[in-house]
Amino acid sequence: MSGTYIEPAPYKKGEINPFDSMMIRFNAAAKLYKLDDGLYNYLKHPVKSVIISIPVVMDNGKLEVFEGYRVIHDIILGPSKGGIRYAPDVDLDEMKALASWMSWKCAIANIPFGGAKGGIRCDPSKLSNSELEKLTRRYTSALLEVFGPDTDIPAPDMNTNEQVMAWIMDTYSMHARKTVTGVVTGKPTIIGGSRGRHEATGRGVMIATLAALEKKGIKPSETTCAIQGFGNVGSISAKLLSEKGVKIVAISDVSGGYYNKNGIDIQKALEYVKKNRVLEGVSFGDKITNEELLECDAYILVPAAKEDQITALNAKKIKARLIVEGANGPTAAEADQILSDKGIMVIPDILANSGGVIVSYFEWVQDRIGYFWDEDDVNNRLKRMMTEAFENVYRTAMKYDTSLRIGAYIYAIDKVSQVLKLRGIYG
Ligand code: NAD
Repeated sequence: MSGTYIEPAPYKKGEINPFDSMMIRFNAAAKLYKLDDGLYNYLKHPVKSVIISIPVVMDNGKLEVFEGYRVIHDIILGPSKGGIRYAPDVDLDEMKALASWMSWKCAIANIPFGGAKGGIRCDPSKLSNSELEKLTRRYTSALLEVFGPDTDIPAPDMNTNEQVMAWIMDTYSMHARKTVTGVVTGKPTIIGGSRGRHEATGRGVMIATLAALEKKGIKPSETTCAIQGFGNVGSISAKLLSEKGVKIVAISDVSGGYYNKNGIDIQKALEYVKKNRVLEGVSFGDKITNEELLECDAYILVPAAKEDQITALNAKKIKARLIVEGANGPTAAEADQILSDKGIMVIPDILANSGGVIVSYFEWVQDRIGYFWDEDDVNNRLKRMMTEAFENVYRTAMKYDTSLRIGAYIYAIDKVSQVLKLRGIYG
């Protein structure tokens, strides 16, 4: 296992540092909003960044050491909230960018949380289940003073899942000498998870897409869609959009993609991936690469895999008229102007994929009161909150005559800075 302090690959020339990408948008919004210099400096920096070493005795008896992170961007609206990612390219700048996106996302969704993000630099595909469990428990124990239902609440992100959340909850609870379900969200429903959480981010993508189509006066059944990534967000977005009548013409994952102008059988793809983990191995249409998927002939493009997929290099070639960002940071800042000049509407990540954190908020509320809602309640409340968030961002963008992305940042900055002014600066 190549886990011991895998050095993050240095950013290559021309490659975008995710924190810089976030700051370019934040700066543009702060300027338009005329954000006070002091508040600008306050909101720019995370309040806490923790880097930890995580020793694990591997199955072969060898001791390996991994590097873990937890970054808390702010705690102005409430306890911090944000996912935990396991991947070989996790680094501090990525965590800082993702933590601040969480702050803006929670503000836009009108939920009482600040933003955080955590992760471990590792290759989870090379870890056994027991190695993964030890890694997760040791990471949690190193962050016992940070995590807590009233302080900082993790959730799943790339390569972490319900099982990982259950281990975090159990480790935290063992130290607290009582079961503390509200310390994480995205848990299995049997131990305090919320109904509807598994589907929530994809459902939110579907709701945001339909809201945008309505603004454009287009019926779902008149459109086509290409989706990059067929994990939690991508596959559920595909399923729910196709149920609403949108024809899904392209899908992809890490193994490559498929294009079928007559529409892909999403149910078949879901069943195949459940058994085989990746799309490779059966034909859903013409084989295409992930790069080709981004440029294919589809009205809607949903990037739902990873960061920096749409860049200055390929933005000019994108044919979609509507981009709905299921992933966090799939569009590099340098591509924003190109997409805007082409008249492409972009529903930014901090709005489009907020369904997950909204239902995480519902899960936290249900854990605290110890009473669990049925799935229709969860889905109806999600729909109401996502629709309100979409309208707030749309109105702000119109008011400032800017893109939905910068409008979303302005809405968030306005909310967070108003609360900060009311609370005042302690000290
Ligand atoms: P996941 O691990 O379930 O799925 C990721 C998918 O992307 C997989 O199908 C994988 O094969 C594919 N992929 C990986 N590398 C790729 C590449 N280079 N090209 C094309 N496809 C690739 O992860 P997820 O939970 O679906 O998260 C996807 C994105 O959505 C991430 O950016 C995550 O931060 C964001 N997000 C997730 C949630 C959530 O609730 N899961 C919430 C908000 C945002």
